[in-house]
Amino acid sequence: MTDVLAPTALDLARLEFRDELLASGLLVGTSVPGIYGRSGDFERVIAGLDRILGEAFAALDATVLRFPPVYPRADFERTDYIASFPDLSGIVSSFEDGDREHRELLAAREEGRAYEGWLKPADVVLTNAICHPLYATLEGTLPSGGGTYDLSGYGFRHEPSFDPMRLQSFRMREFVFVGTPDAAQLYRDTWLDTSVALLASLGLAVQAVPANDPFFGRAGKMLVSAQLRENLKVEIIVPLYGDLHEGTAIASANCQRDHLTHAFDIRTTDGEVAHGACVAFGMERTVLALVRTHGTDLEAWPVDVRALLGL
Ligand code: 5GP
Ligand code: ZN
Repeated sequence: MTDVLAPTALDLARLEFRDELLASGLLVGTSVPGIYGRSGDFERVIAGLDRILGEAFAALDATVLRFPPVYPRADFERTDYIASFPDLSGIVSSFEDGDREHRELLAAREEGRAYEGWLKPADVVLTNAICHPLYATLEGTLPSGGGTYDLSGYGFRHEPSFDPMRLQSFRMREFVFVGTPDAAQLYRDTWLDTSVALLASLGLAVQAVPANDPFFGRAGKMLVSAQLRENLKVEIIVPLYGDLHEGTAIASANCQRDHLTHAFDIRTTDGEVAHGACVAFGMERTVLALVRTHGTDLEAWPVDVRALLGL
């Protein structure tokens, strides 16, 4: 939502949806925009979605890996996240000094002064894209035929907003392939089609469109145009507010080429730098798109959708 004086019709529609979610108890608000608790019903839909995603991608026979929501700062430094998305990043800091400094910190806090000066960046950062911790573990030569991975976890993006579709901390399920360039491109295209069909089967009015990531600053504008020109990333969007907005991305299929594989020196058996591709599902966004489409009362959702999700 843009912080303009007069809210637009779209802002009002988003606020209304947020109020509806809070009133139904599906989301529980906190004092910070974009940080919510989720109800048992919300989590039942997440669990159903998680299961059908696993089933839809079962043919991949992917290696299942789960990473925590933080990963090494040294690995973060090997990505260019701080160059492309400084405003979305989250660096963890903590206290590392002794008693004297602690007393100073507490005195400052007592006086209502800022005490961040006594904290130092820790050796972990918040995970922004859940495939980054994976890439960091793949340095070296891949098995022949490449590798396929099934990931799930929380991602953090520092973008406080009253739009309930824009959370600061949210779950993603990602299916990643790393291998030869041709295989990566084929993987992206094949599994994009599967993903569109799966989401459509839940009654969502999905559409696949070229992505437009919010790269930061002047250099970022060039990255946006390269992403569009080379059709590297496709988003699966769902319109939620009629004519007011073209739609929100609930999933994306991304051909990263050698973007991360180069950074982490990941090679195929022929010694070439590997290419990566991933299909990522925004779990909360998909549940919210289902709620927007079928209503806040899960009991009233279409029978076939309930059956698919095991509700
Ligand atoms: P990407 O890495 O493509 O930006 O994000 C992958 C998926 O995560 C998106 O397609 C979307 O479903 C979800 N996602 C991205 N940003 C947000 C956000 O701010 N809030 C929520 N709830 N999901 C997001
Ligand atoms: Zn990814």
